[in-house]
Amino acid sequence: MTETKTPEANEDALMALDVHECFERLTKPWTLHAPDSETGHIVARLMPALLPELRDAVFGGMESTGGSASFGARLPISDGALDLYETIDQQIAEAWASAFPGQVPTVDVPERLLSQVVAVAKQDELVTVLVAEQRVEHGGERDEHWWVERKPVEFTLVALLRRWVRQVMEFFNPPRTREIAAPCIQCGVEWAARTSGGEHVPYRVFVFVQDADRCSCEIRCFACGGSWGPGLFQFVAASLGESTARPHLTDSPSEP
Ligand SMILES: [Zn+2]
Repeated sequence: MTETKTPEANEDALMALDVHECFERLTKPWTLHAPDSETGHIVARLMPALLPELRDAVFGGMESTGGSASFGARLPISDGALDLYETIDQQIAEAWASAFPGQVPTVDVPERLLSQVVAVAKQDELVTVLVAEQRVEHGGERDEHWWVERKPVEFTLVALLRRWVRQVMEFFNPPRTREIAAPCIQCGVEWAARTSGGEHVPYRVFVFVQDADRCSCEIRCFACGGSWGPGLFQFVAASLGESTARPHLTDSPSEP
């Protein structure tokens, strides 16, 4: 009876955004229509522009602390925000380079580079950017070894912008996930790590993403970005084999 589905948590809502709507969210304050946490009624909330918001999360508060700290030695306050900001900044530069081959950018603020890309490129224009994957060998063992692999991945422009919107929104409001104790069926990656206080904290990359009702609405791989909806859960289970995924898959509701 209770309709608590968050429109924004729904992958379809994000998939409906076009290049210009994504650009607006990344660069300008925008309106989110989502249920109020107490009443459940859909309310409109003004959201900050995502890229400046992420930049503030990297260095936030440093300017306002005053004091004698050197501005040349600004330290990021959030490793996670820094990683994501640098990744998107780099990918915007790569998208710009492919939209303006052989030219040199005259601006360096990512929002302005992006506005130039959006002005000339088509929705379905193919853009190749480097995607970093953290890889591990012998995870959890004494000789565990971490490294970062950068691979070129091709996206349409609109898919790339939706990816950035989703990554920044999920940075501020992480989806509830449940780990699947198996490697991704698409890329084979099982573990990644986030840096916290100089330590590598490993986490599984192959997960169920759960909506507000704690129903599993998607299987996702944080390494390759692969995504499988409920209609493909049986396929994923079959790909994984009986032993690992089946117990997890059967305890999620089968009704949509
Ligand atoms: Zn994967």
